[in-house]
Amino acid sequence: RTARGPSSEWFITEIERMTDVIAVVGAGQMGNGIAHVCAASGLAVTMIDVSGSALAKGRANIEKNFERQIKKGAIDAAARDAALARVSTSGDLGAVRGATFAIEAATENADLKFKIFAELDRLADPNAILASNTSSISITEIAARTGRPSQVIGMHFMNPVPVMQLVEIIRGLATSAETLERTNALATALGKTPVEAQDYPGFIANRILMPMINESVYCVMEGVGTPEAVDAVMKLGMNHPMGPLALADLIGLDTCVAILDVLHKGLGDPKYRACPLLRKYVAAGWLGRKTGRGFYEYK
Ligand code: NAD
Repeated sequence: RTARGPSSEWFITEIERMTDVIAVVGAGQMGNGIAHVCAASGLAVTMIDVSGSALAKGRANIEKNFERQIKKGAIDAAARDAALARVSTSGDLGAVRGATFAIEAATENADLKFKIFAELDRLADPNAILASNTSSISITEIAARTGRPSQVIGMHFMNPVPVMQLVEIIRGLATSAETLERTNALATALGKTPVEAQDYPGFIANRILMPMINESVYCVMEGVGTPEAVDAVMKLGMNHPMGPLALADLIGLDTCVAILDVLHKGLGDPKYRACPLLRKYVAAGWLGRKTGRGFYEYK
């Protein structure tokens, strides 16, 4: 790392990124998507989950998504096989050892994430960056649970991860410039575009998206329109590729409520109060696509 000019700096960064080893904590819809893009970009990745069935489902989902990419002609079978060989799974958080990055994508619950980060701090290599894919929870608060707050950062991928371009990058109060730089480099190496947001509840993406989804649910609850009508208005009238209620089903209605609760509590404005109908669906176990029923039914 002697002063050899910007081109050699760039070269070193490129070499470093090729040697990144990733641990993804949580093998749900986001975790397996993140593991997919890591493996597809040539990085070794371990998916860690407390649930054996989530690990099996996560791996099956990665295989299904690679199959879809083959059909589209985006990759060939040899590239798929090589990528799948780079994915391993574990039920033990200790499998984070040896990783240069841990990307946490467990359930959207602050206490759970605080616990996971305290454990990750204990188990991960001292130089490893600990990133969270949280949609809304404070990175500063998560970082404070570790002894390495300068190496904790938000890396908020969008759903579905293999398709979506954006990674929202959130710097906590203590996150270092080097951590930010390494995280931006990783996002770029994964073929994504990093965009920086400051650490306030919901960051940028969900501060804007969740009030729109919530208002759509109010429209249904108050009988202003059916889910089909609400989604058609936003698709045909506002040129959204997907209606807000179909999107809520994709995100998971439990996750939507969890994010709205963080916005409501963190910003103190009643405009973020989750619609009672949304809470009712969650209470009924209608969580969207992942349970086969939300505002729509899925076979
Ligand atoms: P999900 O319910 O599909 O998956 C969560 C996974 O976390 C489950 O497999 C669960 O077994 C696992 N888990 C729970 N406790 C764990 C622990 N202690 N250690 C390891 N794994 C554990 O949820 P998801 O939609 O993948 O969301 C995960 C995270 O990504 C959340 O923070 C969410 O806010 C965020 N996120 C979600 C979306 C979305 O559209 N769903 C988009 C961006 C970010």
